[in-house]
Amino acid sequence: MDSVTKHEIPPAGAALPVAESFYSVQGEGANTGKAAWFIRLGGCDVHCPWCDSKGTWNPHAHRVMPVSEIIAPIVQSPAINIVITGGEPLMHDLSYLCEALKDKGYNLFLETSGTHPLSGRFDWICVSPKMHRPPLQEVLADADELKFIVSGPESIKWAEEISANAGKSCILLLQPEWDVRDKALPLIIEYAKAHPQWRVSLQTHKYMNIP
Ligand code: SF4
Repeated sequence: MDSVTKHEIPPAGAALPVAESFYSVQGEGANTGKAAWFIRLGGCDVHCPWCDSKGTWNPHAHRVMPVSEIIAPIVQSPAINIVITGGEPLMHDLSYLCEALKDKGYNLFLETSGTHPLSGRFDWICVSPKMHRPPLQEVLADADELKFIVSGPESIKWAEEISANAGKSCILLLQPEWDVRDKALPLIIEYAKAHPQWRVSLQTHKYMNIP
């Protein structure tokens, strides 16, 4: 347990731990370039070594906010797209949050590792599978986009194996692990040229200096 106040999380999803909430531009994946409100939920048990959101991992370290309070600043903004991310957002029941946002007409995008069962109703599901904790088949089957983080040739080989279980129209993306991008990006570029069913994804928000 972190040395922070422990916040109890009600089970029904009517209130959720929020690590961050902000309006920005989606920097990576198939929806790159779209303005979106990000709701970053607390809690992740996947623990990727390269994670750039380690502060989200402890689900009890974040203020638990009623859904009405989570939505309040969003309705004051021009946002039409909402990204629900984490952490691993599917550690929580997202049904209540999604229904409340859908009632207001928002496009809902999910960013998940796919390691927990799906909850909630989304317009776009991005699954980013992790080799040390593969996604559930039921989540893979519903993915609109698979985004693999690539550190070397073994990551691409594994991406091919996992993507064989995705739907036919699923968009396939290879994205360099940020810390080794100088080594991984040339590999990805050559692979996408030779296997054009794959696309290159970059963390453009890091180049734009936005969250
Ligand atoms: Fe970080 Fe995402 Fe991996 Fe969780 S799944 S450890 S939030 S990169």
